[in-house]
Amino acid sequence: MTCAPYSPHDYKSDLKPVWCPGCGDFAVLNSVYRALAELHFEPHETVIVSGIGCSSRLPGYVETYGFNSLHGRALPIATGVKLAAPNLNVIAVGGDGDGIAIGGNHFMHAARRNADIAYLMMDNEIYGLTKGQAGPTTPRGDKTKSTTYGNPDTGVDPCALAISLGASWVGRGFAGDVKGTTELMKLAIRHHGFAFLNIISPCVTWRGDDQIKLLRPRVRAVADDHVRSDREAAMRLTNEEEEKITVGVLYEDARPTLLDEMIEIRERASGEKMPPTRSEILAAFG
Ligand code: SF4
Repeated sequence: MTCAPYSPHDYKSDLKPVWCPGCGDFAVLNSVYRALAELHFEPHETVIVSGIGCSSRLPGYVETYGFNSLHGRALPIATGVKLAAPNLNVIAVGGDGDGIAIGGNHFMHAARRNADIAYLMMDNEIYGLTKGQAGPTTPRGDKTKSTTYGNPDTGVDPCALAISLGASWVGRGFAGDVKGTTELMKLAIRHHGFAFLNIISPCVTWRGDDQIKLLRPRVRAVADDHVRSDREAAMRLTNEEEEKITVGVLYEDARPTLLDEMIEIRERASGEKMPPTRSEILAAFG
């Protein structure tokens, strides 16, 4: 990490976002620009990997390395990038359909392995790109293009899922609060291990153009006395009562990352200490 004076504008690529006007993903993209600038990351120090979906277009709009990959496959690719180039800041992005439906299996393994990745999920409770079908986080009873008489399935809570899968950092943000989401992104990116940030990012086309207005009064900040290392308390927080949406850091734990574990195994097997810096480690894994 260096201290180059980059501004959020410096991270804007030449591509113009093709999202619908008012889409929550614009606000999330703004938070990405701000977070990278405030962290003083040089553009070449970061890789953003996505799957497929409206929000998975995001890497193309950011002036860093980027990889718009296959549906649901952002996390295994991001894990590979981090292991091959440990010095890079690796960020995975995508929607709830991409990450919890087809990508659910990869979500599970990236979280339990504690791969050193910040995973930003833009949760719009719908399949937007394919024209409004119910997705994994669509609330039960909601009418969508594929559930004309109401969704029969109970929606998944991505934060509860991440905590139970073993993610070592879990937070929730709201696209209607760019400053707050930026702060959470910075914490997620800085975290040593698998950090999952669920960002409520409304789809104005298929969920209604009044979503930000309707959601804002339901959003509340996590209480100051919440103990982040208390897993049960985090689960209780994410099990919202009275239709509330708690934003902030819900859970945080310090444990070895996938790379830390691999280094430890390698040292035990060879009886030799691994080199002290990450670039030297990379060379040793050769
Ligand atoms: Fe955003 Fe929904 Fe439009 Fe996709 S369909 S760009 S999620 S508003």
